[in-house]
Amino acid sequence: MQNIYINPEFEVIRNENRCIKCRVCERQCANEVHSYDADLNLLISDETKCVNCQRCVSLCPTKALKIVKNDCRLRENANWSDSTIKEIYKQASSGGVLLSSMGNPNPLPVYWDKILINASQVTNPPIDPLREPMETKVFLGKKPEKVQRDKNGNLICNTPPQLELSMPVMFSAMSYGSISYNAHASLARAATELGILYNTGEGGLHEDFYCYGKNTIVQVASGRFGVHKDYLEAGAAVEIKMGQGAKPGIGGHLPGAKIVGDVSRTRMIPEGSDAISPAPHHDIYSIEDLRQLVFSLKEATEYQKPIIVKVAAVHNIAAIASGIARSGADIIAIDGFRGGTGAAPTRIRDNVGIPIELALASVDSRLREEGIRNNVSLVVGGSIRSASDVVKAIALGADACYIATAAVLALGCHLCRTCQTGKCNWGIATQNPELVKRLNPDIGSQHLINLMTAWKHEIKELMGGMGINSIEALKGNRLMLRGVGLNDRELSILGISHAGE
Ligand code: SF4
Ligand code: SF4
Repeated sequence: MQNIYINPEFEVIRNENRCIKCRVCERQCANEVHSYDADLNLLISDETKCVNCQRCVSLCPTKALKIVKNDCRLRENANWSDSTIKEIYKQASSGGVLLSSMGNPNPLPVYWDKILINASQVTNPPIDPLREPMETKVFLGKKPEKVQRDKNGNLICNTPPQLELSMPVMFSAMSYGSISYNAHASLARAATELGILYNTGEGGLHEDFYCYGKNTIVQVASGRFGVHKDYLEAGAAVEIKMGQGAKPGIGGHLPGAKIVGDVSRTRMIPEGSDAISPAPHHDIYSIEDLRQLVFSLKEATEYQKPIIVKVAAVHNIAAIASGIARSGADIIAIDGFRGGTGAAPTRIRDNVGIPIELALASVDSRLREEGIRNNVSLVVGGSIRSASDVVKAIALGADACYIATAAVLALGCHLCRTCQTGKCNWGIATQNPELVKRLNPDIGSQHLINLMTAWKHEIKELMGGMGINSIEALKGNRLMLRGVGLNDRELSILGISHAGE
């Protein structure tokens, strides 16, 4: 029932002179904002249901529609903002936890925007990436401390299993169930074409996608949905999900309404039952327990696949990462507090965790200090928005980055931030067959390929400007970075100097 205290967040403006009453908007809106009144011969709008996904605006043939933020505000002050008051009204009427999706929207510092990149001038000249070779390939996994040779001088190649990526970016975990079949198909095809990897998330692997196994990371989360021997063997790497940036410290919950058909079969749970992943893994209460799971998964995959442990960026992340590096894991994935999600409690999403930039710098420094940096690769995610964020992350110490929000934007997401409703009008965060059809995997995968191709060009240009010709030479090269508008403590954690120094 509509809460009478809360004004609609958005206003639908329809230019009646342009509207030809084709009713496209009515058919396209899963939220039922638009309807046709035959008596008036007019399209009318129920703005209380509008989430500003922009589907109707994009598809209106005469461009008759505009959605704007409703400027009718409650009487707010510095302490009680319009949105804070509305949240009280919502909880007073529902008695429930507020739910949201995508990442933390609050105006906390984005350190990527306070870090600037160096460029060569005069000495150590820049490299022209159009004319000279530039290596963007990376290998993820444990590295030997030094090159080893036998008594005849031949190279001893006993490197543990590695993931080979054509560029230092992968598609982060998004489960089948939270996103659609066509969204998964787009990610799987694009990853294969690009020579990178995508990640199943905790929803299992649909049988149609086993053929993309070489470019798939299969995830094992606390709910163990869809985990079996064939699944573990299908992927190129196995990721143990201990935490997620959007909701550190809590589990997951996919409502029974979304557990239908193939989603239920893939997760191996009955149709209509809620898929609840507990907050902890019930067999992991220490690094020793984690080590047991790491080695169980290595054993199950005959020591042929790297094991990733994914954690959320939290206060003592450096110590946590040190423990994980000693657990036998090959790769640590760290997810910052801006990381997206299909659904999370709003209070958790907006108040728990720390920025990925600070977490990455402190983890890389700690592992180097302890002499165990080569034991693991570091993959970071949680709002990596552009090629320059990738370059800054690599220079701060990452081996590669995970992207998810940027990937779904490439698929057509308009960041309406209502994935939790399952009514995604762009066919991404939904299981409604009529909505799923709206995302064409041929077009979706091509857009992902285009985005990554563009980023690869930009990464090469940025590296060339620095006079660096490989990702390996950029990795952990913090001399290439300078801070602006940061205090001494922030600069010290990031391990960079201030601009001008
Ligand atoms: S899609 Fe545009 S032209 Fe068609 S009915 Fe809606 S507002 Fe009118
Ligand atoms: S995936 Fe769909 S529902 Fe979620 S934010 Fe994007 S457009 Fe909205």
